[in-house]
Amino acid sequence: MSASVVRRLALLACMAILPHAAFAQQPLAQSPPTSATPVDLNVVGDLVAANLILADQQVLDAFGHVSVRHPANPQRFLMGRNLAPALVTANDIVEYDLEGVPHGAKTDFAHFLERFIHAEIYRARPDVNAVVHSHSPAVIPFANTQVKLQPMYHVSQFLASGVPVFDIKQAAGGPTNMLVGNGKLGKSLADMLGQNAVVLMRGHGNVVVAPTLPLLVFRAVYTDANARMQSQAIALGGPITFLDADESAQAAKVIDQIHTRAWDLWKRKFTR
Ligand SMILES: [Zn+2]
Repeated sequence: MSASVVRRLALLACMAILPHAAFAQQPLAQSPPTSATPVDLNVVGDLVAANLILADQQVLDAFGHVSVRHPANPQRFLMGRNLAPALVTANDIVEYDLEGVPHGAKTDFAHFLERFIHAEIYRARPDVNAVVHSHSPAVIPFANTQVKLQPMYHVSQFLASGVPVFDIKQAAGGPTNMLVGNGKLGKSLADMLGQNAVVLMRGHGNVVVAPTLPLLVFRAVYTDANARMQSQAIALGGPITFLDADESAQAAKVIDQIHTRAWDLWKRKFTR
């Protein structure tokens, strides 16, 4: 992580409780996010942190994107402009509606082609307030084979409800460029996700959802870790014992309480 990114996030954390006017006086973040609706800067700071953490944890690379539902308008969400996640600052955050249309963004901003993933999941899932789409390499084998991704350990218990696979060729009725580039495909993906926490995308990547940004980051990191461990277990050979439904339900109650420890640790790396 470059020193300039660390400095920008450190400054953002210091300013997170200040009103927009005070925010605007700071030299490294000269304007509030390009959001049409006033937004709590704590939320913006957490979204920037989620971008940096997921890049640092190698869940996101040059590609992928993470968003949060707008705290003041559930029909809108906030996400970085078309930019590598490790480079996102508060000034790159854009407000979108559920049609994927940006509001208040600078005219020279480019937008992610796959913002419809986020829009349609927020439309379909009122309980979801944070979404990440990544191309984590460890997960893709489970999208392209018949092997189901299942919970190897307690911190990935959220996989127990099932991890469906979205096949864009089936959804589109023929070959595509593999990108979820419109609302129709986004809706098909949201339908395949159902009430689960993770959906895989054949030949592409995966999407993770959660009610909060800290839990989203936790789930995205441990989806990737679980995939690597499950592949290792398969290589060892023999039957694999996964968490059963009851174990997963009991583990979920604990993780709900303690996952913020991971968030605090990961965020700290960029704020001190
Ligand atoms: Zn993608």
